[in-house]
Amino acid sequence: MEHFTMEHAIQLDNQDPLAKYRQEFYINHEKIYLDGNSLGLLSKRAEKTALEMLKSWKNYGIEGWTEGENPWFYVSESVGERMATLVGANGREVIVTGSTTGNLHQLLATFYEPQGNKKKILTDELAFPTDIYAIKSHLKLKGFDPDNELIKVKSRDGHTLSEKDIISEMKDDVRLVILPSILYRSGQILNMSKLTEEAHKRDILIGFDLCHSIGSIPHQLTQWDVDFAFWCNYKHLNGGPGAVGGLYVNQRHFGREPGLAGWFSSKKENQFDMDHQLVSEDHAGAYQMGTPHILSLAPLLGSVDMFQEAGIHKIREKSLKLTEFMMTLLEQELAKEEFIIRNPVPDEQRGGHLFIEHSDAARICKALKENGIVPDFRSPNGIRLAPVALYNTFVEVWKTVQTLKRIMDNGEYRKYTNERGVIA
Ligand SMILES: *Cc1c(COP(=O)(O)O)cnc(C)c1O
Repeated sequence: MEHFTMEHAIQLDNQDPLAKYRQEFYINHEKIYLDGNSLGLLSKRAEKTALEMLKSWKNYGIEGWTEGENPWFYVSESVGERMATLVGANGREVIVTGSTTGNLHQLLATFYEPQGNKKKILTDELAFPTDIYAIKSHLKLKGFDPDNELIKVKSRDGHTLSEKDIISEMKDDVRLVILPSILYRSGQILNMSKLTEEAHKRDILIGFDLCHSIGSIPHQLTQWDVDFAFWCNYKHLNGGPGAVGGLYVNQRHFGREPGLAGWFSSKKENQFDMDHQLVSEDHAGAYQMGTPHILSLAPLLGSVDMFQEAGIHKIREKSLKLTEFMMTLLEQELAKEEFIIRNPVPDEQRGGHLFIEHSDAARICKALKENGIVPDFRSPNGIRLAPVALYNTFVEVWKTVQTLKRIMDNGEYRKYTNERGVIA
Protein backbone atom coordinates (compact mmCIF):
# COMPACT_ATOMS: atom_id res chain seq x y z
CA MET A 1 0.00 0.00 0.00
CA GLU A 2 1.15 3.51 -0.76
CA HIS A 3 2.65 5.34 2.21
CA PHE A 4 1.19 8.84 2.56
CA THR A 5 3.29 11.81 3.62
CA MET A 6 2.77 15.49 4.34
CA GLU A 7 3.77 16.22 0.72
CA HIS A 8 0.78 14.22 -0.34
CA ALA A 9 -1.53 16.41 1.73
CA ILE A 10 0.03 19.57 0.29
CA GLN A 11 -0.51 18.25 -3.20
CA LEU A 12 -4.17 17.46 -2.49
CA ASP A 13 -4.67 21.02 -1.21
CA ASN A 14 -3.01 22.43 -4.32
CA GLN A 15 -5.41 20.47 -6.54
CA ASP A 16 -8.48 21.44 -4.53
CA PRO A 17 -10.95 23.55 -6.58
CA LEU A 18 -12.69 24.71 -3.36
CA ALA A 19 -9.48 25.81 -1.59
CA LYS A 20 -10.26 29.51 -2.10
CA TYR A 21 -13.30 29.36 0.20
CA ARG A 22 -11.14 28.84 3.30
CA GLN A 23 -10.10 32.51 3.10
CA GLU A 24 -13.72 33.50 3.34
CA PHE A 25 -14.00 32.11 6.87
CA TYR A 26 -12.77 33.36 10.21
CA ILE A 27 -10.21 30.70 11.02
CA ASN A 28 -8.18 30.58 14.21
CA HIS A 29 -4.84 29.52 12.76
CA GLU A 30 -3.64 28.23 16.12
CA LYS A 31 -6.29 25.56 15.96
CA ILE A 32 -7.66 22.86 13.70
CA TYR A 33 -11.44 23.01 13.83
CA LEU A 34 -13.08 19.63 13.21
CA ASP A 35 -16.45 20.32 14.81
CA GLY A 36 -18.25 21.97 11.88
CA ASN A 37 -20.94 19.30 12.10
CA SER A 38 -21.95 20.69 15.53
CA LEU A 39 -21.43 24.39 14.87
CA GLY A 40 -20.11 25.65 11.55
CA LEU A 41 -17.68 28.59 11.48
CA LEU A 42 -18.50 32.18 10.62
CA SER A 43 -17.88 33.29 7.05
CA LYS A 44 -17.34 36.88 5.96
CA ARG A 45 -20.41 36.67 3.72
CA ALA A 46 -22.59 35.57 6.64
CA GLU A 47 -21.16 38.32 8.81
CA LYS A 48 -21.88 40.87 6.09
CA THR A 49 -25.53 39.89 5.65
CA ALA A 50 -26.00 39.82 9.45
CA LEU A 51 -24.61 43.36 9.74
CA GLU A 52 -26.70 44.53 6.79
CA MET A 53 -29.80 43.25 8.55
CA LEU A 54 -28.96 45.30 11.64
CA LYS A 55 -28.43 48.27 9.39
CA SER A 56 -31.86 47.84 7.79
CA TRP A 57 -33.38 47.98 11.29
CA LYS A 58 -31.29 51.06 12.03
CA ASN A 59 -32.32 52.79 8.79
CA TYR A 60 -35.89 51.71 8.27
CA GLY A 61 -37.47 50.89 11.64
CA ILE A 62 -40.86 49.29 11.00
CA GLU A 63 -40.56 49.98 7.26
CA GLY A 64 -37.86 47.28 7.14
CA TRP A 65 -40.64 44.72 6.75
CA THR A 66 -41.16 45.88 3.19
CA GLU A 67 -38.16 48.16 2.40
CA GLY A 68 -34.45 47.62 1.90
CA GLU A 69 -32.45 44.97 0.09
CA ASN A 70 -34.02 42.02 1.92
CA PRO A 71 -37.48 43.05 3.15
CA TRP A 72 -38.10 41.05 6.33
CA PHE A 73 -41.62 40.04 5.34
CA TYR A 74 -40.31 37.85 2.50
CA VAL A 75 -36.95 36.67 3.81
CA SER A 76 -38.08 33.21 5.08
CA GLU A 77 -39.46 32.47 1.62
CA SER A 78 -36.54 33.90 -0.34
CA VAL A 79 -33.86 32.02 1.65
CA GLY A 80 -36.02 28.89 1.52
CA GLU A 81 -36.24 29.14 -2.24
CA ARG A 82 -32.46 29.30 -2.55
CA MET A 83 -31.90 26.55 0.02
CA ALA A 84 -34.18 24.28 -2.05
CA THR A 85 -31.30 23.49 -4.41
CA LEU A 86 -29.47 21.89 -1.48
CA VAL A 87 -32.28 19.42 -0.79
CA GLY A 88 -33.44 18.82 -4.36
CA ALA A 89 -36.78 20.57 -4.03
CA ASN A 90 -38.61 23.26 -5.90
CA GLY A 91 -38.51 26.71 -4.33
CA ARG A 92 -41.99 26.63 -2.86
CA GLU A 93 -41.40 23.35 -1.03
CA VAL A 94 -38.87 24.83 1.41
CA ILE A 95 -39.32 27.44 4.10
CA VAL A 96 -36.71 28.70 6.55
CA THR A 97 -38.46 28.87 9.89
CA GLY A 98 -38.35 27.71 13.52
CA SER A 99 -35.89 25.13 14.79
CA THR A 100 -35.36 21.45 14.14
CA THR A 101 -37.40 20.46 17.17
CA GLY A 102 -40.11 23.08 16.53
CA ASN A 103 -40.39 22.07 12.89
CA LEU A 104 -40.67 18.39 13.77
CA HIS A 105 -43.51 19.30 16.14
CA GLN A 106 -45.21 21.22 13.35
CA LEU A 107 -44.81 18.36 10.88
CA LEU A 108 -46.05 15.75 13.36
CA ALA A 109 -49.05 17.95 14.14
CA THR A 110 -49.70 18.25 10.40
CA PHE A 111 -48.96 14.74 9.14
CA TYR A 112 -49.63 12.36 12.01
CA GLU A 113 -53.20 11.27 11.43
CA PRO A 114 -53.85 7.92 13.11
CA GLN A 115 -56.57 5.90 11.37
CA GLY A 116 -58.05 3.11 13.49
CA ASN A 117 -55.32 0.52 14.03
CA LYS A 118 -52.95 2.31 11.70
CA LYS A 119 -51.48 4.58 14.34
CA LYS A 120 -47.88 3.61 15.12
CA ILE A 121 -44.89 5.86 14.47
CA LEU A 122 -41.71 4.12 13.36
CA THR A 123 -38.25 5.49 14.12
CA ASP A 124 -34.94 3.97 15.26
CA GLU A 125 -33.17 3.29 18.52
CA LEU A 126 -30.18 5.45 17.53
CA ALA A 127 -32.29 8.56 16.88
CA PHE A 128 -31.31 11.96 18.33
CA PRO A 129 -33.17 12.36 21.67
CA THR A 130 -35.09 15.51 20.70
CA ASP A 131 -36.77 13.64 17.83
CA ILE A 132 -37.90 10.91 20.22
CA TYR A 133 -39.21 13.43 22.75
CA ALA A 134 -41.21 15.25 20.07
CA ILE A 135 -42.69 12.04 18.69
CA LYS A 136 -43.69 10.88 22.18
CA SER A 137 -45.39 14.25 22.81
CA HIS A 138 -47.64 13.76 19.80
CA LEU A 139 -48.52 10.20 20.72
CA LYS A 140 -49.48 11.41 24.19
CA LEU A 141 -51.47 14.34 22.78
CA LYS A 142 -53.52 11.79 20.81
CA GLY A 143 -54.11 9.85 24.03
CA PHE A 144 -51.77 6.96 23.13
CA ASP A 145 -49.10 5.24 25.19
CA PRO A 146 -45.69 5.76 23.55
CA ASP A 147 -44.59 2.38 24.94
CA ASN A 148 -47.12 0.75 22.63
CA GLU A 149 -47.27 3.06 19.63
CA LEU A 150 -43.65 4.11 19.16
CA ILE A 151 -41.58 1.48 17.32
CA LYS A 152 -37.81 1.87 17.34
CA VAL A 153 -35.92 -0.21 14.79
CA LYS A 154 -32.99 -1.94 16.46
CA SER A 155 -29.41 -1.54 15.36
CA ARG A 156 -27.49 -4.79 14.89
CA ASP A 157 -24.10 -3.33 15.79
CA GLY A 158 -25.08 -0.36 17.99
CA HIS A 159 -23.89 2.12 15.35
CA THR A 160 -25.71 1.62 12.08
CA LEU A 161 -29.12 0.62 10.80
CA SER A 162 -30.02 -1.89 8.14
CA GLU A 163 -32.57 -0.68 5.57
CA LYS A 164 -33.87 -4.24 5.44
CA ASP A 165 -34.63 -4.16 9.18
CA ILE A 166 -36.37 -0.79 8.82
CA ILE A 167 -38.49 -2.01 5.93
CA SER A 168 -39.48 -5.17 7.77
CA GLU A 169 -40.84 -2.97 10.59
CA MET A 170 -43.06 -1.04 8.14
CA LYS A 171 -46.11 -3.08 9.07
CA ASP A 172 -49.80 -2.44 8.43
CA ASP A 173 -50.28 -0.64 11.75
CA VAL A 174 -47.56 1.96 11.02
CA ARG A 175 -48.86 5.39 9.98
CA LEU A 176 -45.69 7.46 9.92
CA VAL A 177 -41.91 6.94 9.66
CA ILE A 178 -39.38 9.49 10.95
CA LEU A 179 -35.70 8.75 10.30
CA PRO A 180 -32.41 10.62 10.04
CA SER A 181 -30.85 11.13 6.61
CA ILE A 182 -27.44 10.73 8.29
CA LEU A 183 -27.07 9.21 11.75
CA TYR A 184 -25.61 11.81 14.09
CA ARG A 185 -23.09 9.47 15.69
CA SER A 186 -21.86 6.98 13.09
CA GLY A 187 -22.47 9.30 10.13
CA GLN A 188 -24.26 6.51 8.22
CA ILE A 189 -26.33 7.73 5.25
CA LEU A 190 -29.67 5.99 4.91
CA ASN A 191 -31.05 5.23 1.46
CA MET A 192 -33.87 7.79 1.49
CA SER A 193 -35.08 6.94 -1.98
CA LYS A 194 -35.56 3.26 -1.23
CA LEU A 195 -37.07 3.81 2.23
CA THR A 196 -39.57 6.30 0.79
CA GLU A 197 -40.57 3.92 -1.96
CA GLU A 198 -41.11 1.08 0.52
CA ALA A 199 -43.08 3.28 2.94
CA HIS A 200 -45.38 4.50 0.18
CA LYS A 201 -46.05 0.93 -1.00
CA ARG A 202 -47.55 0.37 2.44
CA ASP A 203 -49.52 3.61 2.60
CA ILE A 204 -47.14 5.07 5.18
CA LEU A 205 -45.93 8.69 5.17
CA ILE A 206 -42.21 9.30 5.70
CA GLY A 207 -40.15 12.28 6.85
CA PHE A 208 -36.41 12.77 7.39
CA ASP A 209 -34.27 14.72 9.85
CA LEU A 210 -31.58 16.32 7.66
CA CYS A 211 -29.52 17.95 10.44
CA HIS A 212 -26.32 16.17 9.45
CA SER A 213 -26.86 16.08 5.71
CA ILE A 214 -27.94 19.62 4.75
CA GLY A 215 -24.92 21.35 3.25
CA SER A 216 -22.91 18.13 3.41
CA ILE A 217 -24.41 15.84 0.78
CA PRO A 218 -26.79 16.41 -2.17
CA HIS A 219 -30.44 15.34 -1.82
CA GLN A 220 -33.27 14.74 -4.30
CA LEU A 221 -36.23 14.96 -1.92
CA THR A 222 -38.80 15.68 -4.60
CA GLN A 223 -37.53 13.07 -7.03
CA TRP A 224 -37.50 10.52 -4.18
CA ASP A 225 -41.02 11.66 -3.29
CA VAL A 226 -40.23 12.16 0.42
CA ASP A 227 -43.28 13.55 2.24
CA PHE A 228 -41.51 16.04 4.50
CA ALA A 229 -38.16 16.92 6.06
CA PHE A 230 -36.70 19.29 8.67
CA TRP A 231 -33.24 20.44 9.69
CA CYS A 232 -31.04 22.94 11.51
CA ASN A 233 -28.84 25.45 9.72
CA TYR A 234 -26.06 25.97 12.26
CA LYS A 235 -24.11 22.77 11.51
CA HIS A 236 -22.77 22.25 7.97
CA LEU A 237 -24.63 25.33 6.71
CA ASN A 238 -22.75 27.76 8.99
CA GLY A 239 -25.80 29.89 9.86
CA GLY A 240 -24.57 30.69 13.38
CA PRO A 241 -25.58 29.54 16.89
CA GLY A 242 -29.35 29.14 17.04
CA ALA A 243 -29.79 29.90 13.33
CA VAL A 244 -33.35 29.56 12.05
CA GLY A 245 -34.08 26.01 10.85
CA GLY A 246 -35.57 24.62 7.65
CA LEU A 247 -38.57 22.59 6.63
CA TYR A 248 -39.61 20.81 3.42
CA VAL A 249 -43.09 19.73 2.44
CA ASN A 250 -43.63 17.82 -0.80
CA GLN A 251 -45.84 19.80 -3.20
CA ARG A 252 -48.20 16.81 -3.27
CA HIS A 253 -49.27 17.92 0.22
CA PHE A 254 -49.73 21.62 -0.52
CA GLY A 255 -53.00 22.89 0.87
CA ARG A 256 -52.86 20.60 3.91
CA GLU A 257 -53.84 22.65 6.96
CA PRO A 258 -50.91 23.37 9.28
CA GLY A 259 -51.30 21.33 12.47
CA LEU A 260 -49.94 24.26 14.46
CA ALA A 261 -51.27 27.42 12.82
CA GLY A 262 -50.27 31.03 13.35
CA TRP A 263 -50.75 34.27 11.49
CA PHE A 264 -47.54 33.68 9.48
CA SER A 265 -49.24 30.55 8.05
CA SER A 266 -51.45 33.01 6.14
CA LYS A 267 -51.36 33.77 2.48
CA LYS A 268 -49.18 36.86 2.41
CA GLU A 269 -51.78 39.02 0.73
CA ASN A 270 -54.39 38.14 3.38
CA GLN A 271 -52.26 38.25 6.50
CA PHE A 272 -52.92 41.87 7.33
CA ASP A 273 -56.69 41.58 6.79
CA MET A 274 -56.54 40.42 10.43
CA ASP A 275 -59.48 38.11 9.81
CA HIS A 276 -60.12 35.34 12.37
CA GLN A 277 -60.56 32.84 9.55
CA LEU A 278 -57.08 31.68 8.51
CA VAL A 279 -56.43 31.33 4.80
CA SER A 280 -53.13 29.45 4.79
CA GLU A 281 -50.51 29.57 2.05
CA ASP A 282 -50.65 26.89 -0.61
CA HIS A 283 -46.95 26.07 -0.23
CA ALA A 284 -44.40 25.28 2.51
CA GLY A 285 -44.85 28.81 3.88
CA ALA A 286 -48.11 27.60 5.47
CA TYR A 287 -46.08 25.79 8.14
CA GLN A 288 -44.66 28.95 9.67
CA MET A 289 -46.26 30.18 12.86
CA GLY A 290 -45.26 33.64 14.12
CA THR A 291 -42.95 36.52 13.29
CA PRO A 292 -39.68 35.23 11.77
CA HIS A 293 -36.46 35.54 13.79
CA ILE A 294 -34.91 37.91 11.29
CA LEU A 295 -31.57 38.41 13.04
CA SER A 296 -31.01 34.65 13.32
CA LEU A 297 -31.91 34.27 9.67
CA ALA A 298 -29.68 37.01 8.32
CA PRO A 299 -26.33 35.10 8.28
CA LEU A 300 -27.97 32.43 6.12
CA LEU A 301 -28.38 34.91 3.27
CA GLY A 302 -24.61 35.09 2.89
CA SER A 303 -23.96 31.48 3.76
CA VAL A 304 -26.46 29.94 1.34
CA ASP A 305 -25.07 32.20 -1.37
CA MET A 306 -21.66 30.59 -0.86
CA PHE A 307 -23.10 27.06 -1.04
CA GLN A 308 -24.89 27.87 -4.28
CA GLU A 309 -21.74 29.31 -5.76
CA ALA A 310 -19.47 26.43 -4.68
CA GLY A 311 -22.04 23.77 -5.62
CA ILE A 312 -23.16 20.94 -3.35
CA HIS A 313 -21.78 18.24 -5.67
CA LYS A 314 -18.28 19.73 -5.54
CA ILE A 315 -18.60 20.07 -1.77
CA ARG A 316 -19.55 16.41 -1.46
CA GLU A 317 -16.68 15.36 -3.71
CA LYS A 318 -14.13 17.12 -1.52
CA SER A 319 -15.77 15.95 1.70
CA LEU A 320 -15.45 12.33 0.57
CA LYS A 321 -11.77 12.87 -0.26
CA LEU A 322 -11.12 14.47 3.12
CA THR A 323 -12.75 11.68 5.12
CA GLU A 324 -11.14 9.01 2.96
CA PHE A 325 -7.72 10.60 3.46
CA MET A 326 -8.31 10.71 7.19
CA MET A 327 -9.34 7.06 7.36
CA THR A 328 -6.29 6.02 5.35
CA LEU A 329 -3.98 7.99 7.64
CA LEU A 330 -5.63 6.58 10.78
CA GLU A 331 -4.92 3.09 9.48
CA GLN A 332 -1.40 4.00 8.42
CA GLU A 333 -0.34 5.80 11.62
CA LEU A 334 -2.47 4.31 14.39
CA ALA A 335 -2.89 0.67 13.43
CA LYS A 336 -1.38 -0.54 16.70
CA GLU A 337 -3.72 1.52 18.87
CA GLU A 338 -7.22 0.41 19.82
CA PHE A 339 -9.15 2.83 17.62
CA ILE A 340 -12.17 1.39 15.84
CA ILE A 341 -13.62 3.22 12.85
CA ARG A 342 -17.39 3.01 13.34
CA ASN A 343 -18.63 5.11 10.42
CA PRO A 344 -19.51 3.16 7.28
CA VAL A 345 -16.61 3.06 4.80
CA PRO A 346 -18.34 2.91 1.35
CA ASP A 347 -18.83 6.36 -0.20
CA GLU A 348 -22.59 6.00 -0.64
CA GLN A 349 -23.06 5.26 3.08
CA ARG A 350 -20.46 7.63 4.57
CA GLY A 351 -21.60 11.12 5.59
CA GLY A 352 -19.49 14.19 6.33
CA HIS A 353 -17.78 13.06 9.52
CA LEU A 354 -15.84 10.12 10.90
CA PHE A 355 -16.77 8.36 14.11
CA ILE A 356 -14.02 6.49 15.91
CA GLU A 357 -14.15 4.71 19.22
CA HIS A 358 -11.58 4.16 21.94
CA SER A 359 -12.08 3.28 25.62
CA ASP A 360 -10.13 6.45 26.56
CA ALA A 361 -12.03 8.69 24.11
CA ALA A 362 -12.99 11.37 26.67
CA ARG A 363 -9.41 12.05 27.74
CA ILE A 364 -8.02 11.65 24.25
CA CYS A 365 -10.38 14.47 23.23
CA LYS A 366 -9.12 16.60 26.12
CA ALA A 367 -5.53 16.04 25.02
CA LEU A 368 -6.44 16.85 21.40
CA LYS A 369 -8.00 20.14 22.54
CA GLU A 370 -4.93 20.95 24.60
CA ASN A 371 -2.96 20.49 21.37
CA GLY A 372 -5.17 22.86 19.38
CA ILE A 373 -7.45 20.32 17.73
CA VAL A 374 -11.20 20.68 18.17
CA PRO A 375 -12.92 17.27 17.96
CA ASP A 376 -16.35 16.31 19.23
CA PHE A 377 -16.70 13.79 22.03
CA ARG A 378 -19.82 11.61 22.12
CA SER A 379 -20.42 9.63 25.31
CA PRO A 380 -19.39 7.03 26.27
CA ASN A 381 -16.36 6.46 24.02
CA GLY A 382 -16.84 8.08 20.63
CA ILE A 383 -14.89 10.80 18.82
CA ARG A 384 -16.44 12.60 15.87
CA LEU A 385 -14.05 14.27 13.43
CA ALA A 386 -15.56 16.45 10.73
CA PRO A 387 -13.17 17.83 8.12
CA VAL A 388 -15.44 20.32 6.36
CA ALA A 389 -15.09 20.88 2.62
CA LEU A 390 -15.43 24.67 2.58
CA TYR A 391 -12.80 25.45 5.22
CA ASN A 392 -10.69 22.47 6.27
CA THR A 393 -7.59 21.32 4.40
CA PHE A 394 -5.84 18.03 3.71
CA VAL A 395 -2.82 19.34 5.61
CA GLU A 396 -5.06 19.84 8.66
CA VAL A 397 -6.19 16.24 8.35
CA TRP A 398 -2.55 15.19 8.17
CA LYS A 399 -1.62 17.24 11.23
CA THR A 400 -4.60 15.93 13.19
CA VAL A 401 -3.60 12.32 12.71
CA GLN A 402 0.05 13.12 13.53
CA THR A 403 -1.04 14.85 16.73
CA LEU A 404 -3.27 11.94 17.67
CA LYS A 405 -0.36 9.56 17.09
CA ARG A 406 1.92 11.67 19.31
CA ILE A 407 -0.64 11.84 22.12
CA MET A 408 -1.02 8.06 22.02
CA ASP A 409 2.73 7.34 21.70
CA ASN A 410 3.77 9.55 24.61
CA GLY A 411 0.74 8.73 26.76
CA GLU A 412 -0.08 12.43 27.19
CA TYR A 413 -3.82 11.71 27.28
CA ARG A 414 -3.38 9.83 30.58
CA LYS A 415 -2.87 13.19 32.33
CA TYR A 416 -6.62 13.81 32.05
CA THR A 417 -9.64 12.16 33.64
CA ASN A 418 -11.75 10.06 31.31
CA GLU A 419 -15.00 12.02 31.89
CA ARG A 420 -17.06 14.28 29.70
CA GLY A 421 -17.80 17.98 30.23
CA VAL A 422 -21.32 19.52 30.39
CA ILE A 423 -21.48 20.05 26.64
CA ALA A 424 -20.06 17.17 24.68
C1 LIG B 1 -28.43 18.94 16.00
C2 LIG B 1 -29.60 18.04 15.88
C3 LIG B 1 -30.85 18.43 16.35
C4 LIG B 1 -31.01 19.74 17.07
O1 LIG B 1 -32.31 20.20 17.20
P1 LIG B 1 -32.53 21.74 17.62
O2 LIG B 1 -33.99 21.89 17.67
O3 LIG B 1 -31.86 22.59 16.59
O4 LIG B 1 -31.87 21.93 18.95
C5 LIG B 1 -31.92 17.56 16.13
N1 LIG B 1 -31.76 16.38 15.50
C6 LIG B 1 -30.54 15.97 15.07
C7 LIG B 1 -30.40 14.66 14.37
C8 LIG B 1 -29.43 16.78 15.25
O5 LIG B 1 -28.23 16.37 14.85
